[in-house]
Amino acid sequence: MEIDSKTEQLAAHYKEILKLLGEDNQREGLLKTPLRVAKAMQYMMKGYDENPEEILRSALFKEDYRQMVIVKDIEVYSMCEHHLLPFYGRAHVAYIPNGYITGLSKIARVVETFARRLQVQERMTYEIKNCIQNTLHPLGVAVVIEAQHLCMMLRGVQQQNSVTTTSDFSGAFSNIATRDEFIRLISSKLH
Ligand SMILES: [Zn+2]
Repeated sequence: MEIDSKTEQLAAHYKEILKLLGEDNQREGLLKTPLRVAKAMQYMMKGYDENPEEILRSALFKEDYRQMVIVKDIEVYSMCEHHLLPFYGRAHVAYIPNGYITGLSKIARVVETFARRLQVQERMTYEIKNCIQNTLHPLGVAVVIEAQHLCMMLRGVQQQNSVTTTSDFSGAFSNIATRDEFIRLISSKLH
């Protein structure tokens, strides 16, 4: 199998890192580790090569439905840009269509595209909101993300159970009743 030069360069750096960490990078268990890590990192950063607005535009449908559309419990696996450690949890996304709807799976794809980059949870939250707002031009967008950060769990404060919640809203969701309905619907266990 051919390995592209970017993967090879990454692997060379990881080999060096293993040595700097005090390991014997020639021992059997570690021989292929640099290459595996390089490939894993490239997979986890694949969002840089994807265009989330294009993903939404690829499935735009004219529709008169003007009630809230909610996609909840979207699994999120991302990487904290401060420590290069994962954070993971769930995203809940809603929008109120204004003439156009998009495929439901596309909403999850948008979340994944932003998650597969170096991130902070706060920025990812509004990037998802802005992307949907700027592409679908709906009456409003709501995004809530709940996540646990390995950088908090493994080191420093060692907060094993703390969950970070971020939210961002646009348009009709600045109305408190609309926002409350969204929060009630994502909190319910109806499914
Ligand atoms: Zn961190």
